[in-house]
Amino acid sequence: MTERINVLGVDFDNVTMAEAVDAAWALLQREGTDYIVTPNPEIVMNCRENPDAAAAVAGAALSIPDGIGIIYGAKILKTPLKEKVPGCELTQHLLERMNTAGGSVFLLGGKPGVAELAAEKLHAQMPNLRFVGCHDGYFSDDGPVIDEINAAAPELLLVCLGAPKQELWMHKNAAALSARLMIGAGGSIDIYAGTVQRAPEAWCNAGLEWLYRLLKEPRRIGRQMALPKFMLKVLFTGGRGGAD
Ligand code: UDP
Repeated sequence: MTERINVLGVDFDNVTMAEAVDAAWALLQREGTDYIVTPNPEIVMNCRENPDAAAAVAGAALSIPDGIGIIYGAKILKTPLKEKVPGCELTQHLLERMNTAGGSVFLLGGKPGVAELAAEKLHAQMPNLRFVGCHDGYFSDDGPVIDEINAAAPELLLVCLGAPKQELWMHKNAAALSARLMIGAGGSIDIYAGTVQRAPEAWCNAGLEWLYRLLKEPRRIGRQMALPKFMLKVLFTGGRGGAD
């Protein structure tokens, strides 16, 4: 059980990337269906207004700080987190470890064809991993999708439906699924498929991944307004001397 740190109402596990991979690996060995969430400032701000999303995020076995904004926020609130743990990197490390043991994965989410493309590219890098199924993220009835996943019996299910849809989906359906572990991995599926490029390492190291993404996809400006709102809330809350 790791220490949890609350940032504007959302709990985060205070873990390094290596510790997060170990924790995810342990969840994969455990009976039952657990899930991992990867909140960024946008998700935190959403949870403040959407109690269902907040409950879904709170139900996760592991909650990791996906964006540099969360790290700055936690620092300003004087409850620092060890480091940024991007969901797509955590997932990649976990897949690599599963590859050595010959694990099985189902990819759920993205536009039609994206999951298949991601499975193909990941399989080329990790040939011992079994990609036992794929399904796009645009469906209205959960039942047949759950049946398809359970019939494929993956150990790991990547749920890439965007936030907060993926967190709500995992929370609602965990009991009906036989997979050991789910990760709400958002746009990672597009990165694995190569349909979206991740920011170059120098931008990531400079904490500017959000700016790269905004320059690549200017229509995200509305969503990215969550970041300054989050920072203002942090500064206001920190200035008053505590988390709310
Ligand atoms: N997505 C999906 N179903 C939906 C909405 C989104 O499968 O109903 C997919 C979308 O195609 C994309 C992924 O969810 O592959 C992440 O979407 P977004 O860019 O909104 O999330 P982020 O990368 O910010 O987590």
